Amino acid sequence: MSSNVPEIFGSMVFNDAIMRDKLPKDIYRSLKKTIQDGKDLDINVANVVAIAMKDWAIEKGATHYTHWFQPMTGITAEKHDSFISPQNDGRVIMEFSGKELIKGEPDASSFPSGGIRATFEARGYTAWDPTSYAFVKDGVLCIPTAFCSYGGESLDKKTPLLRSMETLNEQALRILRLFGNGEVKRVNTTVGPEQEYFLIDRSLYERRKDLIYCDRTLFGARPPKGQELDDHYFGAIRPRVQAFMKELNEELWKLGILAKTEHNEVAPAQHEMAPIFDTGNIAIDHNQITMEVMKNVAKRHKFICLLHEKPFEGVNGSGKHNNWSLVTDSGVNLLEPGKSPHENAQFLLFLVAVIKAVDEYQDLLRLSIASAGNDHRLGAAEAPPAIMSIFVGDDLGAILDSIENGSSYDGKPNSKMDIGVHVLPKLPKDTTDRNRTSPFAFTGNKFEFRSCGSSMSVAGANTVLNTIVAESLKQFADKLEGAKNFNSELDKLIKDTVKKHKRIIFNGDGYSKEWEKEAKKRGLLNLKTTVDAIPMYLEPKNVKLFKEHKIYTEVEIRSRYEIELDAYSKIINIEGLTAVDMTKKEILPAVNRYIGKLSETAKSKQSLFLGKDMPANLPCNMEIDLIRVLSKLEDQAYKEVNKLEKMLADASNLDKNDKLAQAAYYKDKIIPAMASLRKYVDEMESNCDKDMWPLPSYGEMLFSV
Ligand code: ADP
Ligand code: MG
Repeated sequence: MSSNVPEIFGSMVFNDAIMRDKLPKDIYRSLKKTIQDGKDLDINVANVVAIAMKDWAIEKGATHYTHWFQPMTGITAEKHDSFISPQNDGRVIMEFSGKELIKGEPDASSFPSGGIRATFEARGYTAWDPTSYAFVKDGVLCIPTAFCSYGGESLDKKTPLLRSMETLNEQALRILRLFGNGEVKRVNTTVGPEQEYFLIDRSLYERRKDLIYCDRTLFGARPPKGQELDDHYFGAIRPRVQAFMKELNEELWKLGILAKTEHNEVAPAQHEMAPIFDTGNIAIDHNQITMEVMKNVAKRHKFICLLHEKPFEGVNGSGKHNNWSLVTDSGVNLLEPGKSPHENAQFLLFLVAVIKAVDEYQDLLRLSIASAGNDHRLGAAEAPPAIMSIFVGDDLGAILDSIENGSSYDGKPNSKMDIGVHVLPKLPKDTTDRNRTSPFAFTGNKFEFRSCGSSMSVAGANTVLNTIVAESLKQFADKLEGAKNFNSELDKLIKDTVKKHKRIIFNGDGYSKEWEKEAKKRGLLNLKTTVDAIPMYLEPKNVKLFKEHKIYTEVEIRSRYEIELDAYSKIINIEGLTAVDMTKKEILPAVNRYIGKLSETAKSKQSLFLGKDMPANLPCNMEIDLIRVLSKLEDQAYKEVNKLEKMLADASNLDKNDKLAQAAYYKDKIIPAMASLRKYVDEMESNCDKDMWPLPSYGEMLFSV
């Protein structure tokens, strides 16, 4: 099959080529124009597009269509409707109208709305995002849509993302005009999300309630071997995994997803797939599909694909590196250092816009990647720390220094950095990306935001990133548009921005304790957990930003704040209940059975000596000692599990409307209680007969594939 990749690529997508082929010329042109200008689609055009789309989808085996959307649960939602339409003679025909294409009205009442629903309408509607192609998946025509309440409030992750791309486009165009560029009509973001995941054997997964309910293990003693030998990273891919990857690639290619690289990651059983980057909203749609396809294909190969940020303690967790840049409709990457002085000045202005944005809105970036799962990574000395900082590398760092000081950047005479005068020295690409501990790294011609969690939609992170950079550009444009002398004003602006925001630049080891201290000295934020980060939504400066750029209304901000805190509490609640359930119903009974077996063995050993000379040392020291050890651990675990159970029950007494207090309770009470319980349980596992332990071990799960 892999021999005809070009043939299968995009075969399930109603893409530009198909549209050109299937649509009348004038309809195609007006659809194209709608897509380019981001305008509403005319119903007459929509009717023709709908029929062509339906006929094509039926050819691809579809019987149903769905408005495919991204509610705030972070996963995608779909409600299938079949094309059938009954006729008077008892037969059916397959129908699909323009109205059905552009607008859907799913009952929104079970999706999180954070209070919006109560104040407005129970129903929501979905609207086609024509910039993202429709596709056929599992016999269903999927139409990528945005999801809003009847009051127009966004209830999803796509709407704010599209709004943020709009504002960024607007402000970037202002800057380009200042540099004399009148041709560019659109500036888009490009996004390339690298997706990490674990593959474990499905039969082992099915025996672990924690994986089934929580997607991560809540217990598990350390195996003798972890990732210390680094023998998995980029290692030869095993045949069974290779077969999975082959099918995954083919499925993704059919859906027009540019799956490009695949390799083994640091932890055993951990892998990564990186696509070729695409326009922001499309790349994010594709990443959502990728996660779904990964899970489905894994099942067909008797695997389970774990997307959780930290499925196993003691080995690395999974992230999603969000590579991000800005590109014009003529294909120019605005974060690519230029060749002429003119291009360089423009590059430096966009670069310092990002630096300023990240410094001023560290809190928003941090909260954009906050989740219960990602809390296990950030700050845990493996993934980027919770402190936001930017890595620019030594070369670019030296250039920024010289701009700030007006000195030479490499110690050589005549190499003084005068913006707009000198050519930028060539930045060797391989030196820009050595530091893997930075949350936000400049990697030659793009930034890599490394803090995103593997299971999350990166729509939130990109919405923030686009908006904060748009704000920097807006301030720059305001200043420069009124400048008497553009060049000297530009020079001053770049210099001042570097001076003011250089504290956010850090090229050292982001995992070190020293950095934590240093960052504090610099006044950088260290929002350690989701509960610390989410309240930043409500900071006046952030509310102002979102409102001014028309990303969120105040109601929408409040709703996101509530939904995200609520999700956090719910996740920890499920984890707590699962821990209790497993301990009481599986773990303690199993240990008890083992103790029973040990006692029986001891008894029968002793009976061998009945009536005979009893040896000086009782011949069952091991059994008795183990019984002692395990009984003590059992009692301790029993005490802890009851404590945890009581705390979980007490959570229902908390004020339901105070989502922050609720989340704080789960963070401060439930998480530590689960950790205390785990300590005893893991110690019991280390002392228990492996055949009697009810759960597959870390060793089995991580090394059996
Ligand atoms: P690494 O593992 O070193 O970070 P990869 O090749 O695995 O490198 O991933 C790099 C990712 O960055 C790919 O998804 C790639 O498509 C993406 N990328 C490259 N250039 C850009 C760009 N201009 N904008 C956004 N993403 C980009
Ligand atoms: Mg990377």
